[in-house]
Amino acid sequence: MMIIMRPGAPREEVDAVIKAVEDNKLSAHPIFGVQQTIVGAVGEGHYVAKEVFEALPGVLEVQRISKPYKLASRQFQEYDSIFDFDGFSVGGTEIPIIAGPCSVEGRSQILEIAHAVKEAGANALRGGVFKPRTSPYAFQGLGEEGLEYMAEAREQTGLPLVVEVMAVSQINMMERYVDVFQVGARNMQNFNLLRALGESRTPVLFKRGMSATIEEMLMASEYILAGGNHRVILCERGIRTFETATRNTTDINAVPVLKKLTHLPVVIDPSHATGDSDFVEAVAKAGVAAGADGVIVEVHQDPPRAVSDGKQSLTPEAFARMVKKVKAVAEAVDRKLVPQHVAV
Ligand code: PEP
Ligand code: MN
Repeated sequence: MMIIMRPGAPREEVDAVIKAVEDNKLSAHPIFGVQQTIVGAVGEGHYVAKEVFEALPGVLEVQRISKPYKLASRQFQEYDSIFDFDGFSVGGTEIPIIAGPCSVEGRSQILEIAHAVKEAGANALRGGVFKPRTSPYAFQGLGEEGLEYMAEAREQTGLPLVVEVMAVSQINMMERYVDVFQVGARNMQNFNLLRALGESRTPVLFKRGMSATIEEMLMASEYILAGGNHRVILCERGIRTFETATRNTTDINAVPVLKKLTHLPVVIDPSHATGDSDFVEAVAKAGVAAGADGVIVEVHQDPPRAVSDGKQSLTPEAFARMVKKVKAVAEAVDRKLVPQHVAV
């Protein structure tokens, strides 16, 4: 439920409410607004009457959240969440572009592509070092060695790093390198991993499972939020349908539906959604037109030789063309791309 404090309620009253929430075996999630503070109270299903909190000093009203997901819902927080990174934000007017290869393949590969995507307008660098491959015999990623190369790429370009985490045991080590954890489609309902990421304070780019409903996605994101990690960015990356012409089917509806249901930022991944570089630009534009807050896209200097997802990877030149088109679409819907990152 949401415990709405009177405008200007002093900190001691808010603290007393937080304590009452915890005394009732619920967890407290305060949002300190300019005018007003709201304390979210969520817990494991046992019933606590609203009246317990309504009577406390400084409480204006108490509302139950009817959606099964709580902290993710617009009922809990009406305004859009905006998360700030070094040089850009996501969830506000600006639309950041995250680009890079599917996999980090080596030092010179990642350094070269990092400079190329930055030059073309990327605001953050993606690159997998633990790869969730369909076959156990396919390239599994460079692990920590790959993160060393990613860190060097950040040092040279200033681009923050977005890297997929696949296991609880990788979190502490990866946190020394990454700016944003990615949770991949295959791990969207790996609840142990999600709970552990809830304990972290590193933001999470949270991809939709390939057969997950929007509600299942939001419920799963709640595991991270409930742990106190509030910086979750949702990602539509295509779902499985009967259609075989493309790798997945972009659920473009998911973008406005998510924007209605949740205050969390929503980004589009046209690379995995289509599986084909010929369609990536069209779906990137469609996503932004539909209201996406960002784009994550795979770019490789030599797509036919990429160790993973070459077919859907753009060349740096095609990526640069895509950025120009996405910029025009963003402006048509009263948004803008992030001004270019200044090299450090
Ligand atoms: C990826 O980003 O390379 C990836 C494996 O994505 P997804 O989890 O969406 O398939
Ligand atoms: Mn990939």
